[in-house]
Amino acid sequence: MKVPFLNLKKINEKHKDELCKAFNQVLESGWYIMGERLKAFEQEFSSYCGVKHTIGVANGLDALILIIRAYKELGILREGDEIVVPANTYIASILSISENGLRPVLVEPDPQTFNLDSKKITKVITNKTKAILLVHLYGQMCEMEAIKKIADDYGLLLIEDCAQSQGAVWSGTRSGNWGNAAGFSFYPGKNLGALGDAGAITTNDDRLSEVVRALRNYGSEIKYYNMYKGVNSRLDELQAALLLVKLKHLDAENAIRRSIASKYISDIIHPNITLPTVIQEEAHVWHLFVVQVENRDKFQRHLSELGVQTVIHYPIAPHKQKAYKEFNHLEFPITQKIHNTVISLPVDITMSDEDINYIIDACNSYNETI
Ligand SMILES: *Cc1c(COP(=O)(O)O)cnc(C)c1O
Repeated sequence: MKVPFLNLKKINEKHKDELCKAFNQVLESGWYIMGERLKAFEQEFSSYCGVKHTIGVANGLDALILIIRAYKELGILREGDEIVVPANTYIASILSISENGLRPVLVEPDPQTFNLDSKKITKVITNKTKAILLVHLYGQMCEMEAIKKIADDYGLLLIEDCAQSQGAVWSGTRSGNWGNAAGFSFYPGKNLGALGDAGAITTNDDRLSEVVRALRNYGSEIKYYNMYKGVNSRLDELQAALLLVKLKHLDAENAIRRSIASKYISDIIHPNITLPTVIQEEAHVWHLFVVQVENRDKFQRHLSELGVQTVIHYPIAPHKQKAYKEFNHLEFPITQKIHNTVISLPVDITMSDEDINYIIDACNSYNETI
């Protein structure tokens, strides 16, 4: 038996008729950039998240970069300012800060949830700290009340990286609606995935929304009148049309992810496999199901021999990457331990019960000593 980590073809084929219809509408409209489909997606996504504004952009990294860039244009952030960010995240979160000439200040996560630890944030705040960029890693939201309180108490901007948390709800409020602004990715493998690159910014701030809207389109709101030295980071009509189809199914697909995760949690019983910790059911959308195993490579080989494909998210912490030489000397033991022990099991929504049980049995048959 073979269980792939993620079968994107099968996932999208579930909606083949609807996706083909959406594709044909765009084809026949003859309008491919900044049109009705984008406007419709921005409206739908705003009402889904409960926010005032959604601004579609080219990808998730651009979403984060443009939020910070817009705050610079508004005079709220300046080059050299510090932004607190979790040390264990996908590198994009940190790149968005350094790309803008600001300083990422890395903090250790909570070893149980892998997420930003509010108790550790206040320790790194200086008079240069201007924002917290939090990441809802693996699809689980951070403990939002505590972090929001710190942002409020210290007068910091709160920016959410929601690239892995589309649809997650913490204490009744969706991810993307907790801070001053949020960046989303709709990379094909995310919970809400396009059929190519795509991203969005959500915010309740009218001024920020206006600036981001201009920045993504050459810094221009009125064609050929440029307010800012902007970029080209637009979400095209085709991806917007396909995302409108996929958004309708997001809650149902997240429910399938939850049922797969709860089966893993109840049935994987093994002294060497540490299962993930869930804080609030609705606040986890299981973008990834990440377990920790001390002898990870051996465990991965065992599963691979049984045909179960796994992936490591992520093998090297950002501060140990060649790209961040200036951070290479730093030591974050919790983060490094996470990077050395995590391994992601498949959470493909097209898996059968048989597939899921097969993966569970494969995990439970792991023998660390042979
Ligand atoms: C995927 C991802 C991004 C970047 O999104 P892209 O669309 O690939 O640019 C940013 N942050 C996190 C946490 C991600 O997982």
